[in-house]
Amino acid sequence: MTDIPFGMYIHIPFCLKKCGYCDFYSVTDFSLQEKYISALCKHLESFSREKPSLYPQTVYIGGGTPTAVDALLLNRLLKHISSCFDISRVMEYTVETNPATIDAQKLEVLASNHVNRLSIGMQSSSDSELSALSRIHTYSDFLYGYSLSRKYIDNINVDIMAGIPGQTSDSLDRTVKNILSLKPEHISVYLLRIERETPFYRMRTELLLPDDDTCADMYLSVSSALEKSGYVHYEISNFALPGNEAIHNTSYWKRKPYVGFGPSAHSFICKTRYSYKKNIYEYINAVLSGVMPPLDEYSVLTEKDAVNEEIMLSLRLSEGLDLPYFKEKTGYDILEENRQDITEWISAGLASMNNGVFRLTDRGFAVSNYIISGLLL
Ligand code: SF4
Repeated sequence: MTDIPFGMYIHIPFCLKKCGYCDFYSVTDFSLQEKYISALCKHLESFSREKPSLYPQTVYIGGGTPTAVDALLLNRLLKHISSCFDISRVMEYTVETNPATIDAQKLEVLASNHVNRLSIGMQSSSDSELSALSRIHTYSDFLYGYSLSRKYIDNINVDIMAGIPGQTSDSLDRTVKNILSLKPEHISVYLLRIERETPFYRMRTELLLPDDDTCADMYLSVSSALEKSGYVHYEISNFALPGNEAIHNTSYWKRKPYVGFGPSAHSFICKTRYSYKKNIYEYINAVLSGVMPPLDEYSVLTEKDAVNEEIMLSLRLSEGLDLPYFKEKTGYDILEENRQDITEWISAGLASMNNGVFRLTDRGFAVSNYIISGLLL
């Protein structure tokens, strides 16, 4: 049987403190960490035994805060991944981190276990904005963590955020200048979204949030500053120095197979999408008793779902959608069905068309939901 590559995602659902805006699944009870790592190890082992033809091409350990976990447990998990899977073919091995949880011992654990990329959540260089987000780190914690990380890992992503309560265009410019002075290989720029079931959602009327037009202007000004400094804007929220585009995340946008482990982790394999329930207790109990963890979502995609996903995900990427090829593959003639809208978007500078490839411009990315929803089946 031919070997099939997949992206491996491992969720570490522990944070020292929950940030007010975050809806990623995590708990603050670290007394569970040892049992959780044991459960993860068991899950990884049974998966590798049951699917021997699948091999990881990328590994991404996210969360939560993977580096908040005890260094010995982190070491145990990483060693276990290498013993269960052939990681010689792993092209990119990323761990997410929060600046306040990086230290030399943990970086040593990561570097000695094949981790070759770090993703650091900086968010802002303004301490008052970090505190408005209820982050546990300050800008100087970030600077310390970043320079320490540089001694161990060559490829670093830094996340920054626009639309933070109290943020102004000037303070965002300062964050961008500060990050550019460090020249990380990759920068992700996220717009703060107020998600349901977060403290920010409950306080939404009291938060001093920049309005939608200001957020769109912020996004365009960050995009332009990063592009001028040599970063390739290859995906709506992602910028990389040439050759440093994220391989793992790109596989999501290109609809390649990925398999997630841990509560809330998502998978996409054999036209099926599923995710595990956001409950660490149920996850641990199920895996340690030898049964599959409970599912939250499970769906087998129809042809129509697959067509719509491909449109949505391709248009997030600057490489866009090759319309003649897409028509040949799916039978959906996007150009014929949407000629007037497409012509208007191109004349408004929101999109471009070259040799049949339809792409959104930076201004188009800023209103991508509107454009993409107009093209779906
Ligand atoms: S540290 Fe990251 S994952 Fe944890 S609550 Fe804050 S934003 Fe969410």
